[in-house]
Amino acid sequence: MKSTKTPEFKYVAGWMLSALLMSCPLIAETDAQKEARMNMVETQIEARGVENPVVLEAMRNAKRHLFIPPPRDREAYQDRPLPIGHGQTISQPYIVALMTELVQPKEDFKVLEIGAGSGYQAAVLAEIVDQVYTVEIVEPLSKWADERLKLAGYENVTVKHADGYHGWEEHAPFDAIVVTAAAPHIPPPLIAQLKDGGRMIIPVGSRFRTQQLVLVEKNGDDITTRNILPVRFVPFTRADSD
Ligand code: SAH
Repeated sequence: MKSTKTPEFKYVAGWMLSALLMSCPLIAETDAQKEARMNMVETQIEARGVENPVVLEAMRNAKRHLFIPPPRDREAYQDRPLPIGHGQTISQPYIVALMTELVQPKEDFKVLEIGAGSGYQAAVLAEIVDQVYTVEIVEPLSKWADERLKLAGYENVTVKHADGYHGWEEHAPFDAIVVTAAAPHIPPPLIAQLKDGGRMIIPVGSRFRTQQLVLVEKNGDDITTRNILPVRFVPFTRADSD
């Protein structure tokens, strides 16, 4: 049978499909959201001294509002951490940018993140590096992060539900490690899984005392640590008692 589809039909169908896709919030965004994000990078991140162009570009590209559960997604570009459920928080945008800059990410890097949470820090890293592996101890959050990262189109991030104290042996060693929960000490397995010449950024301290953002550098057997600034992160929790 001869097709009854006229060129007009094809045109209208194509237009309807693109209108549908554009109305999907995960593909499109409003001008206001984009503007808020550009403003965030300028006033919160560049203004505080983050200057690595690849980090600034990643912060301009990663849509933070996609990683925050509604209705707080409306506050995505504000200068503060936000709740993401299960007693956890997404870090302030500046802290995400600073931690990313401090590990000096490069295009060919394989990076381990401990504390996937919303998935946003992993998205920022995935904008820059080759592969991101991220571990999350709260199961529903590991699912949320995985789902959001996929919907946002990141194909170079792998999420695992586990206690990140043990790192991710299977994919080690890593060029860089980013820990986003405050640990009482630097987990030795993470130091072991860092490449020679690699860098790790980790908040160290307890829930009630001042925590320090610590930069760890590994050069052979030589491990150096440098305190960067006082911070406040959610605690690094453990699945078992070791
Ligand atoms: N990087 C996240 C920040 C989330 S807050 C983001 O961009 O949104 C820190 C996360 O670390 C929380 O989700 C918490 O559940 C997780 N966490 C705490 N201890 C952990 C552990 N031992 N292993 C893996 N994840 C852990």
